[in-house]
Amino acid sequence: MKTRRIVVVGGGWGGCAAAFAAARAGAEVTLCERTDMLLGTGLVGGIFRNNGRFTAAEEMTVLGSDVFLLMDACARHTNVAFPGHAHASLYDVYRMEPEIRRALEKAGVNVRCRASVSDIRMEEASGDTTGDGSAAPRRHIAAVLLRSGEAIEGDAFVDATGTSATPANCNRYGSGCAMCILRCHTFLPRVSLTTKAGVEEWDGCREDGTPGAMSGSCKLMKDSLAPEIRKELEERGVCIVPIPVSPSTGEKKLSLKACQQYALKEFAENVVLLDTGPAKLMSPYYPLDLLRTIPGFENARFEDPIAGGQGNSMRYFGFARCTVTMQARGQVDNLFCAGERGGAMVGHTEAVVTGELAGHNSVRRALNMPLLTFPTSLAVGDYIESVTAMMETEEGRRTKFTFSGSVYFERMRRLGLYSTDPEEIRRRVASSSLAGVLAKPLLPR
Ligand SMILES: Cc1cc2nc3c(=O)[nH]c(=O)nc-3n(C[C@H](O)[C@H](O)[C@H](O)COP(=O)(O)OP(=O)(O)OC[C@H]3O[C@@H](n4cnc5c(N)ncnc54)[C@H](O)[C@@H]3O)c2cc1C
Repeated sequence: MKTRRIVVVGGGWGGCAAAFAAARAGAEVTLCERTDMLLGTGLVGGIFRNNGRFTAAEEMTVLGSDVFLLMDACARHTNVAFPGHAHASLYDVYRMEPEIRRALEKAGVNVRCRASVSDIRMEEASGDTTGDGSAAPRRHIAAVLLRSGEAIEGDAFVDATGTSATPANCNRYGSGCAMCILRCHTFLPRVSLTTKAGVEEWDGCREDGTPGAMSGSCKLMKDSLAPEIRKELEERGVCIVPIPVSPSTGEKKLSLKACQQYALKEFAENVVLLDTGPAKLMSPYYPLDLLRTIPGFENARFEDPIAGGQGNSMRYFGFARCTVTMQARGQVDNLFCAGERGGAMVGHTEAVVTGELAGHNSVRRALNMPLLTFPTSLAVGDYIESVTAMMETEEGRRTKFTFSGSVYFERMRRLGLYSTDPEEIRRRVASSSLAGVLAKPLLPR
């Protein structure tokens, strides 16, 4: 059988998961990332398996994904509790990226860093290529074009370009460029395939209707903190330091946050630190002079964003409309979305769930096979179905969805989908008859 070529654009967690899934399915995969490192915002994240993310990670592993096992292998701490969150694992942000890159290369993925996609080449598609039986006239993407001028052709494409990396949005809706890990001024701003292909997009917004949201945590250099804070962080994975002044300044920051699961009073009244290698400060930003008034933080210094005393990256611009198969809606027939690009789905776990499905389905699309959906008897299936439905409503477009808190975790619990029992989760996936589906090749290797 003729080989099938899948091109994934964007090397964050969504894109990496899509590339793994497409490679497992037997395709020839190229992953294009605009910067010199994979993982995107995952380079400064680290929290997984907290609350409902545990269930999602276990379900995905039984479905055949190996990505959470790679995260587990890089965990600095497991079973960490912090306000509103139970049984979190924290991966080491310094070890994770090189591990993922090696694993992708071992899986046969052609990893292309400093490969910034600036445009696409479209062609008319013939016949019913929609996969849903409709005869709507469609176009398909033939190739992506790098800024260097090089064209990379493919049979199907995954847009995993995220929703940040646009300095104009940080300037207009945030506090200017905070010099975050996305390094837009060096590697140039995000360009998304969905925009180029004319897929409908919209911006998320805050409670007051302002577009976008500010990323909810930053990183401090551990060496700049008092030894007793560092010791506690390294021993327990978490250190909670009460703020010895009125919490009003902190409380004001809550509504700015991208992560509604951390919009709790405890995060305004305390400095909450997690050990992901650096000290992850669970606040979108913290004025440095104020932070340095807190005992133990007299020498504090930001690692990411470098201007974390002033602001953080702005995200949630240009979500694209998708179906439950993660196929982009509209007139393009061979484009899938992974991670934040596919809707207001926040977090590494969420990006891996949607990325795995997008990558797997891109191969099915290239082979003209029926597309896979995750059943709603699984948390991952219910998540994608309910969130894509919510994305069609005004209210849904104002909300962010994660397995780890806020409205979706509440729904998970209400429906009895939250479980921390791996055996129960294994049985649940087995009864869907989909165990191992993401590991089975669709093409001979
Ligand atoms: C500071 C911060 C801390 C966070 N902490 C956590 C956490 O602890 N736990 C958690 O679960 N979630 C966390 N999140 C959220 C989480 O990181 C994201 O929701 C998730 O990882 C998004 O993955 P993604 O692949 O969709 O997008 P991104 O991570 O944004 O990746 C998109 C990638 O696409 C690349 N790209 C864009 N345009 C192009 C182009 N034209 N050509 C090639 N490449 C392109 C970008 O360079 C980037 O690498 C955090 C986010 C931030 C910003």
